[in-house]
Amino acid sequence: MTQRHVQQIFQSYLTNDGDGVKIRRVAVRGHLETLDPFLLLDEIASDDAADYIGGFPPHPHRGFETVTYMLEGAFTHKDHMGNEGHLTAGAVQWMTAGKGVIHSEMPEQDKGRLHGFQLWVNLPAKDKMQPARYQEFTPEQIPEVDLHDGGKAIVVAGELRGVTGPVSQVITEPCYFDIRLPSGAGVDVPVNAAHMTLVYVYRGAIDIGSQTVSQGELAQLSDGDAVTIQASDDSAMLFLSAASINEPIANHGPFVMNTREEIEQAIADYQNGVLTD
Ligand code: FE
Repeated sequence: MTQRHVQQIFQSYLTNDGDGVKIRRVAVRGHLETLDPFLLLDEIASDDAADYIGGFPPHPHRGFETVTYMLEGAFTHKDHMGNEGHLTAGAVQWMTAGKGVIHSEMPEQDKGRLHGFQLWVNLPAKDKMQPARYQEFTPEQIPEVDLHDGGKAIVVAGELRGVTGPVSQVITEPCYFDIRLPSGAGVDVPVNAAHMTLVYVYRGAIDIGSQTVSQGELAQLSDGDAVTIQASDDSAMLFLSAASINEPIANHGPFVMNTREEIEQAIADYQNGVLTD
């Protein structure tokens, strides 16, 4: 077993997206190749409706996947095909935008706490123009694993301790775990040695080897096939791993392709109303 260590820490920062929604963002522009196949991670966490009420009115995507995971509160999702989904607390939507989706993501509440994440995962060139596809799961469909010392892991995708998450047939073979550890608890997580592996701490602080990773920080891990995580506080984190794609990335807003020409095509297709055809 080769232990993975913290190779690099990315600080999240506060920004706006959609219609004035306040978000905490990590792993964006400038690091697209670094964290391959992961492109971006956004966290929404607020008790103040003014921070989220604007939601994300209709907008396009092409060439990658968006993964929405709610902890508290709820979002409604509607797309150009007439699909409508309700993402309640604990639910997951894995959306393969493929050649094109035009959708809105709007809060289902005008008060109270909203807390959730959206992860962007890239697709290889050969899969970028596939038809759009959804996988949606309620909290009851997402298994939990009990860990030592009162910890637990919610297994959204991939396998941990023989428990497999419901998300399937994703080309980058991701693991997506929500790991909760009380102060002093630890966990050993086996990882595919070929995978990019990230840990985003959304509560508390953890130690990986001699490195502390605190709330709002994303750790990119070094190579290896195992990770040992020790909680130094009551902690919660997203544990993400997936196969890198190793292709050039061209990005413009909600389009992630391989070349500048493909980005220009996506913009033209959207403007001509044929993005999703
Ligand atoms: Fe979107």
